[in-house]
Amino acid sequence: MRILVTGGAGFIGSHLIDRLMSEGHEVVCLDNFYTGHKRNLLQWLDHPYFELIRHDVTEPIRLEVDQIYHLACPASPVHYQFNPVKTIKTNVIGTLNMLGLAKRVNARFLLASTSEVYGDPEVHPQSEEYRGSVNPIGIRSCYDEGKRVAETLAFDYHRQNDVDIRVARIFNTYGPRMLENDGRVVSNLVVQALRNKPLTVYGDGSQTRSFCYVSDLVEGLMRLMNGDFIGPVNLGNPDEYTILQLAQTIQTMVNPSANVKFEPLPQDDPRRRKPDITRAKTHLDWQPTIPLNEGLERTIADFQGRIGSQVPTQPE
Ligand code: NAD
Ligand code: UDP
Ligand code: UDP
Repeated sequence: MRILVTGGAGFIGSHLIDRLMSEGHEVVCLDNFYTGHKRNLLQWLDHPYFELIRHDVTEPIRLEVDQIYHLACPASPVHYQFNPVKTIKTNVIGTLNMLGLAKRVNARFLLASTSEVYGDPEVHPQSEEYRGSVNPIGIRSCYDEGKRVAETLAFDYHRQNDVDIRVARIFNTYGPRMLENDGRVVSNLVVQALRNKPLTVYGDGSQTRSFCYVSDLVEGLMRLMNGDFIGPVNLGNPDEYTILQLAQTIQTMVNPSANVKFEPLPQDDPRRRKPDITRAKTHLDWQPTIPLNEGLERTIADFQGRIGSQVPTQPE
């Protein structure tokens, strides 16, 4: 199959491309390299079945493909808040263009949506029926509301033009290739621990998140794309941790002498987040397999390979 991956030079996209290429597909990657890097795709650059195009999805493009994984959009608050108007354009105009492309060539279209469509949830855990509690005018809105419009567009193209869609609501995902300056909690804490700097916990650290290892997530995306269920479907790991627990786990694993430093909680930071994955289990026969400790070990090893370690040696 000929498969388009937008945002394929990024964290999740590059892991997805590794899987698609190793299954023998032809892959076209579109990326504007805002948060993505060519180095994530080095092993495929010379491969005859792989094509990398520097392109911004807010501009139209004509391609002939069978499937489209639409991932292009910065995912970390630090990056999506840097140019919020651009984030909205990417989610709205970018998704419109990719749906227009899907319609023209009759391709199946998968949207990488997000748990952020639930905002700061009033129900726990979050199932797909929950409509969310989103601030339309806050600093996260460019991303949250942008993704909500992207979902609306996908469903309207489906109803109005018969575009074959799939919608995944992805919960916090982590793993190798996260950027060291990504600003997300796992990468921040691991990098700080390796550099022997204090681990920054925002607020009192009692807010929770549920962390999914990237290979599990990619498996879920591929099952969704190749099955009959259009979604929306939550893809995430239901094991929930407070941010303080996460910091302490990383401290123990990397650098027991690192301190924890409390910093102000950002505006509109969701208090709790945990996916109800009943739909994914039922319709995709999918659930995560990699526990947090194992995923963190692999992530820490990857960061250590890239940035080294300044952890002081412990006395015997
Ligand atoms: P990422 O920032 O590593 O990857 C996004 C990629 O999209 C980058 O390569 C970036 O250069 C590219 N991009 C951004 N704007 C673009 C544009 N206008 N045109 C072309 N390319 C553009 O993020 P990620 O973690 O790999 O996330 C991938 C997708 O998954 C995003 O859509 C994100 O919203 C979604 N998602 C991720 C998470 C997570 O925890 N990582 C959670 C929920 C949803
Ligand atoms: N589009 C694209 N590539 C294509 C087909 C469409 O980028 O192969 C863009 C097109 O430029 C438009 C958007 O997708 O901005 C929506 O296309 P659609 O055909 O649904 O709407 P229309 O072009 O009629 O406004
Ligand atoms: N966070 C933190 N320290 C950091 C970065 C993030 O305590 O150095 C917190 C953040 O306030 C949030 C949680 O960790 O409560 C997850 O943040 P992230 O940006 O990774 O993801 P999101 O908020 O989008 O789920």
